[in-house]
Amino acid sequence: MAEQSVTTTGEDRDAQIEHIRLAVRQLCAKYGEDYWLEMDRTHGYPTEFVAELTDAGFLGVLIPEQYGGSGLGVLEAAAVMEEVCRSGAHAGVCHAQMYVMGSVLRHGSDAQKTEYLPKIASGELRLQSFGVTEPTTGTDTTSLKTTARRDGDDYVVNGQKVWISRIQHSDLMLLLARTTDKDKTTKKTEGLSVFIVDVKAAEGNGLEIRPIESMINHHSCELFFDDLRIPAANLLGEEGKGFKVILDGMNAERVLIAAECVGDGRYFVDKASAYAGEREVFNRPIGQNQGVQFPIARAYTQVEAASLMVDKAARLFDAGLPCGAEANMAKLLASEASWQAGDVCMQTHGGFAFAKEYHIERKFRETRLYQIAPISTNLILSFVAEHVLNMPRSY
Ligand SMILES: Cc1cc2nc3c(=O)[nH]c(=O)nc-3n(C[C@H](O)[C@H](O)[C@H](O)COP(=O)(O)OP(=O)(O)OC[C@H]3O[C@@H](n4cnc5c(N)ncnc54)[C@H](O)[C@@H]3O)c2cc1C
Repeated sequence: MAEQSVTTTGEDRDAQIEHIRLAVRQLCAKYGEDYWLEMDRTHGYPTEFVAELTDAGFLGVLIPEQYGGSGLGVLEAAAVMEEVCRSGAHAGVCHAQMYVMGSVLRHGSDAQKTEYLPKIASGELRLQSFGVTEPTTGTDTTSLKTTARRDGDDYVVNGQKVWISRIQHSDLMLLLARTTDKDKTTKKTEGLSVFIVDVKAAEGNGLEIRPIESMINHHSCELFFDDLRIPAANLLGEEGKGFKVILDGMNAERVLIAAECVGDGRYFVDKASAYAGEREVFNRPIGQNQGVQFPIARAYTQVEAASLMVDKAARLFDAGLPCGAEANMAKLLASEASWQAGDVCMQTHGGFAFAKEYHIERKFRETRLYQIAPISTNLILSFVAEHVLNMPRSY
């Protein structure tokens, strides 16, 4: 991929992003919707697709050039993810390779950055697994129960995680665990630490991985830790300050997920408007009826509005400015817009929407996730209420 700095002038940057979009579209066109349907049916992992996306440099856009990436911004990364989703692909199989490394980049030691980032950029190492959620504590992250206790040169991990995606297709996982009991800290956000886990070495040696059968092909698993030993050198950032390590990565993640939703939304609108023009019932295209065309036009309008918020959040992020509110609002607006567009696309296709060969039901299932994960809509609304509108904290 051509190199570009995020300080490039606005016009050059926009032109460069168009260039990136075109290249992603061309790559995705080789993996048609039947490919994704087959992955969904067989619970397969799109190894070839991910390898090609990596080799073309698209998953390393956020890694600085000194570590072998393209050194571009979240705006460019968002364009990549949007185009992947708009093509009909399922970006959830690989999006985390793009952003989980942000924690290593921002909080890793020089040794960790030199060891991992170039290999993540080249695809030699996959860091696309992120272990936070637990079955008994859910969204209440600071109450998580997995512990990591220091023992000589190691930490010893015990506990359980749930919904940890892509771990079977990752070499490394970032793990959030308690290193100090919550009742021994002054603030509940303290006493949590992040570790870089060598998944292949850990599995069978204190880490058990059990896939979860789920509604979408997201490769999510339950994890059981039983005295897993992690070298102390794999602590990322300071012990006890892991919550900040995780928080720092969230804005980029929110913007990229929102961009995926915009891509899904555009996919649904394209499909719905095309079908509305083609399908004839009562001797005329169904799209001639306002009852069919208005919901599609509304869905388009909502997706366009969400896209503006994604753009705003990404530009603020890249400029190093605060963007928590915009990143969260982008994710909320885009996940709701893509879901609305998916619903309209289903309705426009009538009974055929249910036929797998039309692909809509798969995308419909996939885009539903984003109102729940990586953070649910209610939690975003709480954030906006408390941090933007200064209302009392609700939980
Ligand atoms: C397919 C999939 C992939 C995932 N991948 C990963 C992954 O790779 N790594 C990872 O760590 N996690 C992952 N997750 C977990 C995901 O982040 C959580 O499911 C999500 O954060 C919600 O947590 P929960 O499921 O425990 O819901 P809960 O916390 O039990 O919440 C249930 C509902 O109650 C609402 N709620 C809870 N508390 C409040 C409150 N105080 N006010 C208002 N509403 C509230 C929530 O909004 C939600 O709608 C994944 C989940 C799925 C389904």
